[in-house]
Amino acid sequence: MLLVAVAAAVIFLRRWIHHAQLEAIPVIVPPDIPAHDIIHPPAGAIAARMVVEAKETLFPPQRPRLAVLTFDDGPFPVLTPLLLAQLHALGVPAAFFMIGQDVRAQPAIAQRIAPAGIEIGNHTLTHPELSSLGEDAQRAEIAGGAAAIADVTRTRPAYFRPPHGNYDAETIDAARAADETMALWDVDPGDWRSMDADQIVASVTTHARSPAVILLHNGKEATIEALPRIVRAYRAAGFTFVTLRELQARLPLGAINDPLRVAVSP
Ligand SMILES: [Zn+2]
Repeated sequence: MLLVAVAAAVIFLRRWIHHAQLEAIPVIVPPDIPAHDIIHPPAGAIAARMVVEAKETLFPPQRPRLAVLTFDDGPFPVLTPLLLAQLHALGVPAAFFMIGQDVRAQPAIAQRIAPAGIEIGNHTLTHPELSSLGEDAQRAEIAGGAAAIADVTRTRPAYFRPPHGNYDAETIDAARAADETMALWDVDPGDWRSMDADQIVASVTTHARSPAVILLHNGKEATIEALPRIVRAYRAAGFTFVTLRELQARLPLGAINDPLRVAVSP
């Protein structure tokens, strides 16, 4: 009997630690934590996170319901103008993480993005797997992406997102050296796969968080088709759509990096 109780306690503790480790992955990388500690959170940080989780289970915190629609890749002919038109029709801001070489390939489209009220982020020059590159090559990819965006759009990206969300400590340091804040996400429907609009809406609503930084992709017809239902569902649940900069102005980083599960019906 005692053995069973001990075994159950060990399983519970291991799950709790595992969950705390997952939750320790930041949505927006804090400027003041050493890159190595973000990749491998020290035991103290995991323990602190476990305490926060226990406290929040007992006393769920109140958060303003804010959501950021972020779109990776591109810009692309046809589908990026369609996405811009959809966002305009819905009256929502967004952030586009663009690829430098695609910005240079589609300058006329890239130049329409910032004037449409969309935040421009850097998504590297050629979309490589950054964590397989050395530090110098990573810095060149980030600098090259930012230079292409600045040359073509006259806008300097304040945010950076690594391709496929893969990064290491060098990536974090390289983004910091470029004076760009690394932004990931907390809602990911996987719309880069072949999904239909219904599946995207179901995933984005089922996995809603407050605040929500939603990862979507440029160049996907199903994503454009899903947007009106996503926006309607989140608004009905009391959400306001903002840019990353507005999100950071309205919420401390601790709250952004500790998103709460919330119910949003599709
Ligand atoms: Zn990408």
